[in-house]
Amino acid sequence: MAVERTLSIIKPDATARNLTGAINKMFEDAGLRIVAQKRIQLTPAQAGQFYAVHAERPFYGELCDFMASAPVVVQVLEGESAVARNREVMGATNPAEAAEGTVRKAFALSIGENSVHGSDSAENAAIEIAFFFSGLELVG
Ligand code: ADP
Repeated sequence: MAVERTLSIIKPDATARNLTGAINKMFEDAGLRIVAQKRIQLTPAQAGQFYAVHAERPFYGELCDFMASAPVVVQVLEGESAVARNREVMGATNPAEAAEGTVRKAFALSIGENSVHGSDSAENAAIEIAFFFSGLELVG
């Protein structure tokens, strides 16, 4: 197993409900270290650029509007197998299918407003981290 980094976003539904600390505690309790973090407000265009891979999906417009509807907290999590570990802690995309003890089971409102984003591969993590952070902002 290798130490790696992944890109996490605490989404607008969660920041609006003041859940940043509660979600960060779940990440830290799972052995993930927050090595970079900032609270930003995305424009719909920036959200669209980030989620460009989903541009053909029917929910793309809704997703971009949601991600720009309130501030988000973007963060880099580091740890052993961080990409997979974070996906475990997040839980299934649809909160109705998310396991007990996961962020989405605890906090997600719907399949769209599901509280967190996490990179789905090490390759995408590198791309997504570079989208939001410069090297100087990553403090391991
Ligand atoms: P994940 O975030 O679990 O990797 P996906 O990559 O499939 O899931 O989808 C990206 C995001 O798009 C989801 O987290 C969710 O916010 C939104 N989304 C996915 N499926 C739907 C859907 N059927 N309706 C509305 N929004 C959706």
